[in-house]
Amino acid sequence: MIFDTAGWPRSRRRAAAEKDPVSITASNTCKEAKRSIGVILSLRAAVQRWVLAITSVPECGSPFCYPAARELHRLIPSHPWYRPMLLRSFIRRHPVYATTALLAALDVTSVAHADDTSAGFFRMPLGKITVVALSDGRFMLPASQLMVEPRKGEVAGALAKAHLDDGVPTSVNAFLIDTGDKRILIDTGSGAFLGATLGEVGQHLRAAGYRADQVDEVLITHLHADHVGGLIDHGRMVYPNATVRVDAREQAFWEDRGNAGKVDASVKATFDAVATALKPYEAAGHVKPFKAGDTVGPGITALDEPGHTAGHTGYRVESDGKVLLVWGDLVHLAAAQFPDPKVTIHFDSTPADAIHTREKALAAASKAGYLVAGAHIAFPGIGRVARGGTGFSWIPVGPVSVNHASPQP
Ligand SMILES: [Zn+2]
Repeated sequence: MIFDTAGWPRSRRRAAAEKDPVSITASNTCKEAKRSIGVILSLRAAVQRWVLAITSVPECGSPFCYPAARELHRLIPSHPWYRPMLLRSFIRRHPVYATTALLAALDVTSVAHADDTSAGFFRMPLGKITVVALSDGRFMLPASQLMVEPRKGEVAGALAKAHLDDGVPTSVNAFLIDTGDKRILIDTGSGAFLGATLGEVGQHLRAAGYRADQVDEVLITHLHADHVGGLIDHGRMVYPNATVRVDAREQAFWEDRGNAGKVDASVKATFDAVATALKPYEAAGHVKPFKAGDTVGPGITALDEPGHTAGHTGYRVESDGKVLLVWGDLVHLAAAQFPDPKVTIHFDSTPADAIHTREKALAAASKAGYLVAGAHIAFPGIGRVARGGTGFSWIPVGPVSVNHASPQP
C-alpha cells in the first residue's frame, strides 16, 4: 500500500515509516520527508546497535576488556532511570571498550540486511575464556516432511503446544572459542551454499570484533553444508591461517562418492559441498583429521556423537572448571526433540544411533547442569537442559529476544 503522508504530523509519518518504510509516500514533499525519516531511522538504528553491542552481552562485552565487561554486568540490572547515567560514566571510563563496540555496530549497519535489528553475535565468559555464538541466519524447517516421529501426530502436537506452524524458523549457529591466545571457530555456517537467508557467520564474526585471518583453528562437527559452507568464499579460503579439524571417519565418508547410495536424498549434495569447501584447505595442507577422544585445542576434547553422520562430533570445552558442550546437530527441532528425544530427522544417517546419542547427551547435560551449545537451537543456541515431564526442556541463556534469529523453535 502506498501512503501519501503529506500533512501528517511528524510522529505519525515516523510511525508509518517504521511500519512500512518501503511503500511510504509518493508526493515530492513526502519524498523529502521519507529521506529525512530514513536518515533518522538509520542513525537511530546505528545508535541502537551500539547500545545493543555494549549492553546485550551482560556477562562479557569485549574480548579486550574483561574488567569493563564485569562492571557492565553489574550495571545492567540497575534501575532504568539510572542506567543512561551509569552508561555515560561507564563509557567515559572505558573509551577503548566503547569504541570497539561502536566500530562493531557500524560494521553491522553497513553489512546487515535491512530488517536485521540485531548484532548477530552473543558473547559470554566460560571460566577464563570467551565463547561467542555467531548467527548464520535461519531457514524454514518443514517439520512434517523432515521429522520422523515415533507416534503419529506427535510432532504436530508438539508444534501446536509451542504455538508454531509446520514451517519452523530454525537457526544455524556457529561458535567461536577465544582463549586469549587462540581463536577456535566451531563450524562455519553455510556460506553461499544454502540460499540468501543463511551465510552470515563471517559478517557476525567481524561484528563481534574479529578478523577471519585471526582464526587459528576451525573445528567441524560434521560436513553438512550448513556447517562447512562458510569455509570458502568464491572458492577461496575464508580462514587462510586456520587449520581445519574434522573427524577422520567423517572426512573419509564424504570424500568417497561411492557412499552416495548410503545417504538420504536430502543430503546427497553434501558430497559436492565437501569437495568444494575443503579443496583449498587441502591444497594448502590445512586439513588435519582427528579421532574421537582426541584433545583438539586448549581444554577442548572431541566427543563421538554417532547417528547424524559417519563421524558426527561434539566438543567438550572446559575452562577453570566450567564446561560447555558444543553439540552440533543433536537437536534440530527443539519443540519436539527435547520433550521426546526419539523424534529424528531425515538427515540422520543411522536414526537408532541418533536417538541413543541424543538421549544420552540430554540426560548427561541435565544431570551435570552443563552449558550446551546447539547448532540449530534458537540463536544464540546456548542454554541448559532440564528434565521435564516425560522428557526434557531447554533453558536458553542470554537476551535471546533481541536477536533477529530468535523465534524459539
Ligand atoms: Zn546442521
